[in-house]
Amino acid sequence: LSTRGNRHQVPRVGIMGGTFDPIHNGHLVAASEVAWVYDLDEVIFVPTGRPIFKMERAVTNAEDRYLMTVIATASNPKFTVSRVDIERPGATYTIDTLRDIHAQRPDAELFFITGADAIAEIMRWKDTDHMWDFAHFVAVSRPGYSSSLKGLNLPPDTVDMLEIPALSISSTDVRRRCTLSEPVWYLVPDGVVQYIAKHGLYGES
Ligand code: ATP
Ligand code: MG
Repeated sequence: LSTRGNRHQVPRVGIMGGTFDPIHNGHLVAASEVAWVYDLDEVIFVPTGRPIFKMERAVTNAEDRYLMTVIATASNPKFTVSRVDIERPGATYTIDTLRDIHAQRPDAELFFITGADAIAEIMRWKDTDHMWDFAHFVAVSRPGYSSSLKGLNLPPDTVDMLEIPALSISSTDVRRRCTLSEPVWYLVPDGVVQYIAKHGLYGES
């Protein structure tokens, strides 16, 4: 008998971390697909504070990235947004995100969602051994990046690779398009297009 859609005794909660500068439809499809395949009750989007991988470029201020994430996820009853990373001082490390969400949701089984590119980055940073204690990891396919976990030296059964519908969208390309006044309709949710325009984010420099 399938329990899909029923409330679980132990809530199954996804965590979708990202810079979300800005959030785009690739992020939303990734979260939606993992929620479906893993029968999650909720996916918490967690905009990063200062992303450790992106120290070399100026990242849009956290409140704008947070609000765009709220706008983009508001219509999905399973999607929520957490401020844990933007309220923690200093660089964002995945282990701290996991600790904080676990402290808030000690009853939940956690599933950390990343793209195929990001899983390799995360493994290069601190305390990766302990990450496996907190969450299952699901790495989703992403156009332009290898969908193979070989060569990452992962402990067995810690990370699943999931093939999802390919959306060749990146925040970098959305920012570039905005700077050149090219359209970003249908790459990001309508409300995010309007938020970017209203606040002049990524405008011509
Ligand atoms: P940037 O170009 O600024 O790095 P990005 O598009 O990669 O932005 P991030 O905020 O860096 O977005 O990504 C957050 C998470 O979403 C990462 O785990 C990343 O791998 C994943 N992701 C981003 N875009 C896609 C996509 N089109 N398909 C699948 N996963 C994606
Ligand atoms: Mg990225």
